[in-house]
Amino acid sequence: MTVANSLNKIIYVDNAATTKIDDDALALMIDLQKNFFANPSSAYKLSRPLKKILRESREKIAACINAEPQEIFFTSGGTESDNWAIKSSVLACLNERPNIITSAIEHKAILNSCAAMKNLGCTVTKIPVDKSGAVNPVNLQEKISQRTKIISIMLANNEVGTIQPIKSLAEIAHAAGKIFHTDAVQAIGHIPVDVKLLGVDMLSASAHKFNGPKGMGFLYVRDGLKLLPYIDGGAQEFSKRAGTENFPAIAAMALALEKNCRDMENNAEKLSACTKILLDDLRNNNVDFIINGGENRLPGHLNLSFRNCDGETLLHRLDLKNICVSTGSACNSRQTKISHVLQALAVPKDFIRGTIRITFGKENSCDDSKIISKNLINFMQRVNDNYERR
Ligand code: PLP
Repeated sequence: MTVANSLNKIIYVDNAATTKIDDDALALMIDLQKNFFANPSSAYKLSRPLKKILRESREKIAACINAEPQEIFFTSGGTESDNWAIKSSVLACLNERPNIITSAIEHKAILNSCAAMKNLGCTVTKIPVDKSGAVNPVNLQEKISQRTKIISIMLANNEVGTIQPIKSLAEIAHAAGKIFHTDAVQAIGHIPVDVKLLGVDMLSASAHKFNGPKGMGFLYVRDGLKLLPYIDGGAQEFSKRAGTENFPAIAAMALALEKNCRDMENNAEKLSACTKILLDDLRNNNVDFIINGGENRLPGHLNLSFRNCDGETLLHRLDLKNICVSTGSACNSRQTKISHVLQALAVPKDFIRGTIRITFGKENSCDDSKIISKNLINFMQRVNDNYERR
């Protein structure tokens, strides 16, 4: 059996970890990779279409988030964009011992960038979240000090899907004269994102989370904000991020984002239907579970904790049935320790170990929900029988 054949039978509901690349985006990427081999920076006519592709891709992406083309900087993905935003904000003023404010539930790309800057003398303040995973703007207000240089709060959380009140948080930051960055990796292409409405100075995105290629992303940087170069070398990316552009992946990213933004409402409706079927089935069968992440979550994003259950075992049982879910964030899935996000949300003790994340994508159907719920119900019945026998 080929990998492609075996994949047909799999129910993939781990779209927060990564998404399947869009067919048109893949076809475009292959075509460009194969047939347009010149370097976009070269002066001869073979390179001219490539310059055009770069320009149009930048324009398309900017249009999707209501930015200007020159405010989009292509990167290798969310991790690089996050590193760039945090580090470029403080590296030029380390002698002032700058302070970085972030939240307790950020992705490791932010938390470890902050930790690296702490090693160089910065201070880092982590704002707690409430039970739903939301940052209270009042808490941000209280933590801002004169030394605060940048505030970075994610738009939507990768584990529980909570959407943050970014507009209010950015307003507070700006009233105090601080830079505001948001990690929008999980949000872009799934919920409307308008950088002007949100009022952010910088925003990170990653193509593989919105059916684009892996290893590609961008950083939005508001016109007028001074940004240190992240990779030194040639003059690519307005001399801020050197290296020959991966234009096949850039073009594929732009197309995938354009398609996802165009189909956003329909996709969101379908994803909500999938989650409703699954939750109704669990409730109708008296499964004892809680939903983490509050009401204001990403569409299709379910982080469920089952009482007296082990999430790791549940993941493997579902895997045996060809259902792909995750226990926490994908980057943490090899670690058995409870994720920092679930700890920050103070998920009750009886439930916290029995947590799995199910994230539906545009490839899923309501039938997938039915199959997943049937397997969860069977598994939980066995867990309960064992628990009662003890
Ligand atoms: N930020 C968030 C919220 C994420 O979910 C991820 C990936 O899981 C990243 C950053 C890192 O993105 P990438 O995989 O493109 O480096």
